[in-house]
Amino acid sequence: MKLDPDLRLQILEKAGIYANRFSIPEPRVLLTTKEVLDMPKEMTEGRRTSAYKYYGVSYLQHNLIFINVRKIPDEKTLENTLVHELIHLRFPYLAHGKRFNKLVRQGLKGKTFLPYRKRTAKNL
Ligand SMILES: [Zn+2]
Repeated sequence: MKLDPDLRLQILEKAGIYANRFSIPEPRVLLTTKEVLDMPKEMTEGRRTSAYKYYGVSYLQHNLIFINVRKIPDEKTLENTLVHELIHLRFPYLAHGKRFNKLVRQGLKGKTFLPYRKRTAKNL
């Protein structure tokens, strides 16, 4: 898809809405490979020069995601990729698989998730 200022704004708005629903702090969202390369190296380590190969990348340690708009063919894939990366941020311990895909589907349908690590209060 072609990234113009309208689409950029739309994506950032959606990221904010989904981040709210998933009870995670709003991540910084990179939308071009140039923005990935312009970040400090330690923030994008491991998926830096290879980021262009993917629809999206999440950099869990830095609350940062990359949405590869240029590679993404249509709006549906775009939304799917955005939610996929945000699910990584909300469920950092979860690998790809059935459970992960289910959470993405639920997220796309508007489900809200409680904050991560809520149960630590049990020990107080
Ligand atoms: Zn993933």
